[in-house]
Amino acid sequence: MLTAYLSHPDCERHVMGPDHPECPERLAALNDHLLIKGLLDCVQPVDAPEATDAQLLRVHDAAWLYRLQDLIPTEGYARLDADTLVNPFTLRAARRAAGAAAHAVDLVLSGQAPNAFCAVRPPGHHAGRHGGSGFCFFNNASVAVAQALSEHGLQRVALVDFDVHHGDGSEDIWAGDERVLLCSSYQADLFPFRDASPPAANVVLAPLPARSGGPAMRAAIETHWLPALARFAPELIVVSAGFDAHREDDMGNLGWSEADYLWLSQQLLAQAQASCGGRIVSCLEGGYSLSALARSAAAHLRVLVEA
Ligand SMILES: [Zn+2]
Repeated sequence: MLTAYLSHPDCERHVMGPDHPECPERLAALNDHLLIKGLLDCVQPVDAPEATDAQLLRVHDAAWLYRLQDLIPTEGYARLDADTLVNPFTLRAARRAAGAAAHAVDLVLSGQAPNAFCAVRPPGHHAGRHGGSGFCFFNNASVAVAQALSEHGLQRVALVDFDVHHGDGSEDIWAGDERVLLCSSYQADLFPFRDASPPAANVVLAPLPARSGGPAMRAAIETHWLPALARFAPELIVVSAGFDAHREDDMGNLGWSEADYLWLSQQLLAQAQASCGGRIVSCLEGGYSLSALARSAAAHLRVLVEA
């Protein structure tokens, strides 16, 4: 059985204007690199379906769906916030990205794939229950978590977020829900500038100082995440896989390398193998240096493929 690799051409039709860092070329760069490295030969490619309203409404309120639908222009762009724009294809792309995450859960939990990676955009972890922000519209990883809980009856799902930005949307959705353990590392003092105190017992935060580098990340993960994950014993690990903590990415300043993403992915796989037969569903979040994104995501995917 091969790792499921979910994507869709619609994800490249969502554009937020010229020179926006969250651009379609991100997926093209990733695909090119995976092709060159032979990794696309080691996965089962799956066309991402669109998320249904029912799947989206498990983590978002209906008012946000209506507001986003109303915002979509027939041509050109419309603005959600200072950094987040929509074009005529945004809603379709966002539904594909969330639908990929939900379908990936179906594939992994039904035994049709050992694990899965969703190469999708727009990203999702800044989208909360009441709306999107920070390049995000629907919280893809949270849609995956909800699919596992509601559709498949799982009782313990871990959501792990190593994007350089704090996943405030995921925190809004899951804080206080004991069925979910949310582990999040991020650069302190960066968007969305949220207080670093955990809002509930099921949230484990590992804020990292700017310029702290890979060794500080590894120490924080070993101290904060791994014991919590071992205690929780998840039946599935969902990953918000952002690669913008890479040292070549201008969006943050943590100085990670491909080796750090490889190490982190290996730790998550080891936990998944210990508690849930290796079941991981990973969703692309940030990563804006095209080359660094492609190399880092390839390191992450290689761990899944070789599991
Ligand atoms: Zn990010």
